[in-house]
Amino acid sequence: MTCNHLHYHNEFSYFFNSDRCASCGGKCCRGQQGYIWLSMKELEKMAQARNTSPEAFAREYVRQVKGKMSLKERIINNEHFCCFLDPVDHCCTVYPYRPEQCRTFPFWEQYKEESKELFQLCPGVSLL
Ligand code: SF4
Repeated sequence: MTCNHLHYHNEFSYFFNSDRCASCGGKCCRGQQGYIWLSMKELEKMAQARNTSPEAFAREYVRQVKGKMSLKERIINNEHFCCFLDPVDHCCTVYPYRPEQCRTFPFWEQYKEESKELFQLCPGVSLL
């Protein structure tokens, strides 16, 4: 459920205030090495939005991990950045067509049971 900038989800014990994103510096898109999984459909959509072919998009922005596709990262000052995170203003440069994994953050299955790591990462989450 969404109420302006406050987001709730029945199955989670916290809510998310997306107003906090403007000042957090893109913490969910950078830090330690991670994976942003994407489907072929998402890859095609992103390629189309960037006026390029799926093949060219994949060559430049996608890596294969365990038989799946993940967005590439850049390492800046020993920190991993999603290749689509602007390293200066820390905004997502593909926000309107970002993958589902990014859209559903912070309501990820892995945080249902154990959300300590999430609370350390994201200043926008608060317990209900
Ligand atoms: S695609 Fe955008 S929202 Fe997703 S991790 Fe990269 S920068 Fe963040």
